[in-house]
Amino acid sequence: MATLLQTKPAAPPMYLPNDLRPSLMGLSRAELAEILGRVGVPEKQRRMRMRQIWHWIYHRGAISFAEMTDISQSLRVVLEDVFSIGRPDVVTEQKSSDGTRKWLLKLAPDERGQRHEIEMVYIPEEDRGTLCISSQVGCTLTCTFCHTGTQKLVRNLTANEIVGQVMLARDKLEEWPHQMETNPDAPESGRYLTNVVLMGMGEPLYNFDNVKTAMDIVSDGEGISLSKRRITLSTSGVVPEIIRAGEEIGTGLAISLHGTTDEIRNKLVPLNKKYPIAELLAACRAYPGASNAKRVTFEYVMLKGVNDSVADAKRLVKLLEGMPAKVNLIPFNPWPGTKYECSDWDVIEVFAEILNKAGYASPVRTPRGRDIMAACGQLKSESQKIRASELAKAANA
Ligand code: SAH
Ligand code: SF4
Repeated sequence: MATLLQTKPAAPPMYLPNDLRPSLMGLSRAELAEILGRVGVPEKQRRMRMRQIWHWIYHRGAISFAEMTDISQSLRVVLEDVFSIGRPDVVTEQKSSDGTRKWLLKLAPDERGQRHEIEMVYIPEEDRGTLCISSQVGCTLTCTFCHTGTQKLVRNLTANEIVGQVMLARDKLEEWPHQMETNPDAPESGRYLTNVVLMGMGEPLYNFDNVKTAMDIVSDGEGISLSKRRITLSTSGVVPEIIRAGEEIGTGLAISLHGTTDEIRNKLVPLNKKYPIAELLAACRAYPGASNAKRVTFEYVMLKGVNDSVADAKRLVKLLEGMPAKVNLIPFNPWPGTKYECSDWDVIEVFAEILNKAGYASPVRTPRGRDIMAACGQLKSESQKIRASELAKAANA
C-alpha cells in the first residue's frame, strides 16, 4: 500500500475570502463580447477587446486585469472593479506516493449562497499528464459500485466551474507559457497537462450545454489549445445524448459498460433499465467520427464474482464485434461501506487475455492515487458527506 506523502489540512482554510464579482472565465467568445458592451466598451471595439482579454485569460493565464498591459488603464480599472478571473479556491491538496495529485476545491457561492466542494485529480505518466475533472457536484445516478453515486446533494457545474478546474491545474503545474519558457526541465511539448478526462464527479451528458461550452474553451486554439482528440468524455450511457455529443462536443467517447447482460448491468448501472445495452451499443456504433484511429473506449470495472467470469469476457467480445473499440479494465477501487470487492489479479489477467486475443486492446488501468482516495469512483467531497449524514440525523430526529 502506498503511503500518504503530504496532506494539507483543511483548517485554517487556505481558500481566499468570497469573491462576489462575476468571473469572465467560462463565457463563450460571443458572451464575452456582449458583457463588455454592458460596461461601456463601444461596439466597434468589442471584438478586439474580447480577443485581447481572451488571450490574456486563456493563453497567458492572467489572474488579474491589471496584467493586461495592452488594454487602456481606464478600462482595466473598470474590469477589475466589476469582474474577476477567479479560480475555484483550494481547500486541500494531497499528493500520492505515485505522484498523483488531488485537490479539494471550493466553488464560489451559487445562487442560494452555498459553496459546494468538488474534487479534481492530476495523474502524471511518462508520456502524458491527465487531468480528471468533474462535471457535477455529486451525481443523480446511483451506480452501485461508485462512491460519487452515494452523495446526496447534486447540482450541475457551470461552464466557469468546469473551465476553472483546468485553469487552476495549469496554475498549480506552473505550465503557462511564461513559466515554461524559464523552466529548464520543461517537457518538449511545453505542457505537463496533455489530456483531460471527464471522469470525475458527475454525469457529463446531464450537463450537456455547460460541458460543451467548457470543452470549446479548453480546446480553443487561441487559448489553452488542448485538442479535442486529447479530451475524453465518459458517460454511464445517456443514449439520446451520445450522438449529439459526437456532433456538438466532438471529444473522444468512453462508455461505462461494466456488465455484459442487461440483468447484470441493471444492477450495476441502474440507468441501463432506461437505456439497455443493445440501444447503448447502437449509439456507440453511430458515434460520429468513431473509427480505428478514434475508437470508442469501453470502461469495465472488475468486480469479484459479479462481472469477471470467462463467460462475461466472451460475451463482451461478442457485444463489441465489428466495432472499432478498446476496453479499459478498471480494478475496482474500494470505498468505505461498499459491498463489492476487486477481482483477483489472475482473474483480471485471464479476462484481459480473452479480449486481447479477440483483437481488442485491453489495458488494465493501474490504480493511481488510491492512498489518497483519488482513484476512479472514489471521489466524493467530504463536506457533502457530512451534510448528507447531518440531514439523515435531522430527518430521524
Ligand atoms: N459519470 C460518468 C463519468 C464519471 S465516473 C460515468 O459513469 O462514466 C468515471 C469512471 O469511473 C466510470 O467508468 C465509472 O464507472 C468508474 N468508476 C466509478 N466507481 C468506481 C470504482 N469504485 N472503482 C473503479 N471505477 C469506478
Ligand atoms: Fe454517476 Fe458515473 Fe458514479 Fe454512475 S459511475 S454514479 S454515472 S459518477
